[in-house]
Amino acid sequence: MSSLQPETDCTDTPSATPASETPLIQLRDVSKVYDLGEVKVEALRPITLTIDRGEYVALIGPSGSGKSTLMNTLGCLDRPTSGSYLLDGEEIVDMSNDQRARIRNLQIGFVFQNFNLLNRTSALENVELPLLYAKHITARQRHQCATELLEKIGLGDRLDHHTSQLSGGQQQRVAIARALVNEPSILMADEPTGNLDTRTSTEVIDLFRQLNQEHGITVILVTHDQDVARNAKRTIVLRDGLVIEDTADHEKAIEALHSHLPG
Ligand code: ADP
Ligand code: MG
Repeated sequence: MSSLQPETDCTDTPSATPASETPLIQLRDVSKVYDLGEVKVEALRPITLTIDRGEYVALIGPSGSGKSTLMNTLGCLDRPTSGSYLLDGEEIVDMSNDQRARIRNLQIGFVFQNFNLLNRTSALENVELPLLYAKHITARQRHQCATELLEKIGLGDRLDHHTSQLSGGQQQRVAIARALVNEPSILMADEPTGNLDTRTSTEVIDLFRQLNQEHGITVILVTHDQDVARNAKRTIVLRDGLVIEDTADHEKAIEALHSHLPG
């Protein structure tokens, strides 16, 4: 297995714990209720699931089914209303905002539909940005780490291009490099191809597959795009805040997506 880890040491933290018996993600009876005063929205009804290291999971479901809520919960951005969430064996639910932020920085890289890159800023600077928070890294190391990563994902000839000078697919690859520069164990993406045409989506889909297969990164993404979902090894189908299917068989997942529940 080749490594995405640059020769330069890019983090000021010990590398993630070596693979252990503990599942990476364990949700038990996790629910999320948005309390809007008059109405309470049950965005997630009690969900129990496990995701192991090295998995590639697609979350699919109709709009409003709770995909983003589940993703934000898994990504430690949001706290569930009830239940238990063990990430690498650590209980997230009881943590303070600061503690959750620390875990996020160590473990998780995020990719968004709108890329969320800084404008008028080079690809290289965008990727260097997360390393500014790593105290023991010099500017030179930051530069080196970001350069190596961009080279590895095929953008070595675009280092100094500004965001606006890159195609959508290239911008999303820069965003993926930025998500990876802190060497997280999990890459999470919410509709990563939502703003891309079919051809550029393919670049991004290929990159996710490569990161998962060749580099062992756990990938969890939300998608409407069947080509993206088909690429994942496991598909979880949500409806009305419930998991209605959880399968390695893509066709079965699509069937569940289009099925109508009795009642
Ligand atoms: P999806 O990503 O599948 O479209 P979401 O997770 O965004 O679904 O939303 C699930 C449900 O929770 C929806 O009914 C949505 O309206 C509601 N919801 C999401 N975020 C909030 C919020 N911040 N406040 C109130 N309701 C919300
Ligand atoms: Mg959503």
